[in-house]
Amino acid sequence: MTVDISDIENIIAQQETWRQTQCINLIASENTPSNAVRRVQNSDFMGRYAEGHPNEPGKVNRYYQGTQYIDQVESLTRQEIMRLFGARQADVRPISGNAANTALALGYLRGGDTVIANSTDAGGHISHGAVGVFGRRIQNRGQSLKIGGAKAINLHYLPLTEDHYHVDGKKTVELVEQLSPQLVILGKSLFLFPEPLSEIAAVCKEKGIPILYDAAHVLGLIAGGQFQAPLQEGTTWMTGSTHKTFPGPQRGVILGNLNPEEEKKYWPAADRGVFPGSSSNHHLHSLPALLVATREMETYGREYAAQIVRNAQALGKHLDELGTPVEAREFGYTRSHMIAVNVAQWGGGVEVARTLEKNDIILNYNMLPGDTDPRNPSGLRIGVPEMTRFGMDEQAMGELAQLLHEAIRGKDVKEQVHALRKRFTIMKYV
Ligand SMILES: *Cc1c(COP(=O)(O)O)cnc(C)c1O
Repeated sequence: MTVDISDIENIIAQQETWRQTQCINLIASENTPSNAVRRVQNSDFMGRYAEGHPNEPGKVNRYYQGTQYIDQVESLTRQEIMRLFGARQADVRPISGNAANTALALGYLRGGDTVIANSTDAGGHISHGAVGVFGRRIQNRGQSLKIGGAKAINLHYLPLTEDHYHVDGKKTVELVEQLSPQLVILGKSLFLFPEPLSEIAAVCKEKGIPILYDAAHVLGLIAGGQFQAPLQEGTTWMTGSTHKTFPGPQRGVILGNLNPEEEKKYWPAADRGVFPGSSSNHHLHSLPALLVATREMETYGREYAAQIVRNAQALGKHLDELGTPVEAREFGYTRSHMIAVNVAQWGGGVEVARTLEKNDIILNYNMLPGDTDPRNPSGLRIGVPEMTRFGMDEQAMGELAQLLHEAIRGKDVKEQVHALRKRFTIMKYV
């Protein structure tokens, strides 16, 4: 008897055709990894265990036997990713960006600690918030997760400038001086402009406060020398997802650029937070894929990241000029891979995102500054990393803007979407 899996294979085949050749995918956190990255994930590494660190000549760092080839790949991945980012420390074991953050929350923070982070309505990731891993970690028994009030957790939000798309460096410095928190977290999910890291790092260094820069979204841009260079601007740890702008397998990473004294003080929290703190088996089948993606970024990262930013800015400009309002106009819309668009007048983000999906344009709704109801957000978040990878340039962004503009207003553009996508199915930068 054989087990029939043809129905499963059929579903997967439909997903492949739809998402790889018909859809225009504008989800800012997604990407298509290269064929090489996909190919190396199906190997004997799947299902093995390699807790601890790679063994070294004369030194056993693993808790299992049989890891000699895994050790080679893990050591190479660490070395090559450190070189790519100019880092002195790397942990490549976290299985996702959130897992990397969880490791640091568990490894470094304690109940009752004070943390400053981006709020969700300022674009912060929900894991940084009260109900996320950081909020939960600093909560003592009996304490409310509600912010403000006598028994509330000590989570504070980064102050913003008037436009709401930038962290106010000066006010943050004042807040750090006033609160002396245990940790400052920078980085977010609606992430248009760099954080004022150097300014904040100066005061944090003086006071001995570590900074976590969450580069989940922008890791690929940083690898390509765009956006900002957190490890050189003074962050203590940088975490990231390796499958968003960084076009690798679904994993995470923690990087550091610490001198020996800082390393002794801050790196054990990362190391112990990853294992045994938050993981054991670290999904080894995807580790060689991370090494492949790291090499691809070493070779093509600069060109790829620069084109992503040019495309995001071009899409913002085209859409705005057509009359679909794009946020942060006065700052050139974005310095990253995404833009934020206000669609309140066409029924709001949820409704418009569904309309676009019917036209095979895939993206997600998002809260914009001033929104209070997460179920009724006024915005769309539009990211260009995946379409850039399939070769779209500023001119294609103009065509895409026209289709978005029409579809947002209810016109059926599905045929035109397919026609445009058909011209961009071969992957570049690999
Ligand atoms: C996406 C995201 C995460 C979570 O990353 P995963 O790899 O999905 O676990 C964490 N932080 C920020 C700011 C994000 O945008």
